[in-house]
Amino acid sequence: MSFVELELVEPILRALEAEGYTTPTPIQSQTIPHVLAGRDLLGCAQTGTGKTAAFALPILQRIDQHRRPAAPRAPRVVVIAPTRELASQIGQSFATYGRNLHFRHAVVFGGVGQGPQVRALNHGVHILVATPGRLLDLMSQGFIRLDQLEVFVLDEADRMLDMGFLPDLKKIISKLPAKRQSLFFSATMPENIAGLAHSLLHNPAQVSVTPPATTVQRIDQQVHFVEHHNKRALLHQLISENACHRALVFTRTKHGADKVARQLGERGIKADAIHGNKSQSARERALLGFRTGKLHVLVATDLAARGIDVDDISHVINYDLPTDPESYVHRIGRTGRAGASGIALTFCEPGQRRDLRDIEKLVRKSIQVASGSPGPETADAPSGPRHRDSGSRPQNGEARRTGRHHEQRSTARPSSGKPPYGAAKSFHPRRKKRRNHRRALA
Ligand code: AMP
Repeated sequence: MSFVELELVEPILRALEAEGYTTPTPIQSQTIPHVLAGRDLLGCAQTGTGKTAAFALPILQRIDQHRRPAAPRAPRVVVIAPTRELASQIGQSFATYGRNLHFRHAVVFGGVGQGPQVRALNHGVHILVATPGRLLDLMSQGFIRLDQLEVFVLDEADRMLDMGFLPDLKKIISKLPAKRQSLFFSATMPENIAGLAHSLLHNPAQVSVTPPATTVQRIDQQVHFVEHHNKRALLHQLISENACHRALVFTRTKHGADKVARQLGERGIKADAIHGNKSQSARERALLGFRTGKLHVLVATDLAARGIDVDDISHVINYDLPTDPESYVHRIGRTGRAGASGIALTFCEPGQRRDLRDIEKLVRKSIQVASGSPGPETADAPSGPRHRDSGSRPQNGEARRTGRHHEQRSTARPSSGKPPYGAAKSFHPRRKKRRNHRRALA
């Protein structure tokens, strides 16, 4: 199938040609006809498969075919994404694919002043890309109305709901006009998220280019069984010895990311860290350095890595195992993008074998052992890191995103299911902190 057969208009075809896209990817060829026909859609595709163009192209076509001046503060299309980086990337994709069309778009996210965003909205935009927190803020201040909305897109819907954005999303969704087209895209689609998506979508077309959470086949996946105190040396060795020209290293915490980047720097390896505590400009600087090859290694937490689309990442290294198996799929999907091959190396500490097995179950294959020995598996082996100085313990808001830590907290409660007397006091500030953390992310 070609883009012409998808009945895309000539200015869009020209833009695709200029980008060097010759054939639609499977998610594009299966999605675009439904979206052009105005249907709701639930799309499940691995990261790096061309999801963005799958919704951006038909949306641009719709805006072009039903031209109207952009009304101040009333976008016709809203795309919601979980992180600032992903929102920026989506905005950039609209600009790229729509370069031969006349339309206006804006990207709004938190962590930066709202002045320029408000000015763009006052001027009028057809397409608005937003993170949930800032969108809600601007809506509550009256800078955005959704009464003229035609298309609503949730990208990375599973992660957004997973990251605790559900209350914000529900508020946003309650303001949507009943008559709209809704598109949900997600790399993984756990059953509970699919259930929620179905409750929000009207008779959706379903597109799944690969079974949910099946690992990208091209990626060579290996595991290193390693003691915690040897991880640092192993990382240095792997980066120095292999053709690791562009490696993305994942740690579980922000502190861990900073520490690993610092230690690599001390060894003369050009590295920087990217995570939610960094300012927007520091995040952009690190990403640019990585993209342009100034940095060889980017150390990231799951949150900041979400949506990073950097060509040619040769290695993804899981310095810390992800706490939920689905993050593994997202992480390794940062390599092997757009048809390239890639290598994913995972460090597994003793006592984390069960976590590794959960990942293998999800990806439906056993991961090849590159070094070390898994050692004996005990039935009650505790999961996750146990070293105080590990730099890999979840901190602050990051802990809340790990299902395992929810579990640990809930099993620590008395059997009544209520927190112990007095615990409520300490729970409340933490909840507030988490809420602030979530706002800060958006
Ligand atoms: P996405 O999954 O939307 O993040 O896209 C992953 C990468 O694939 C991006 O770098 C896109 O520019 C690229 N891409 C998307 N569609 C195509 C296509 N039809 N042909 C070639 N590359 C594409």
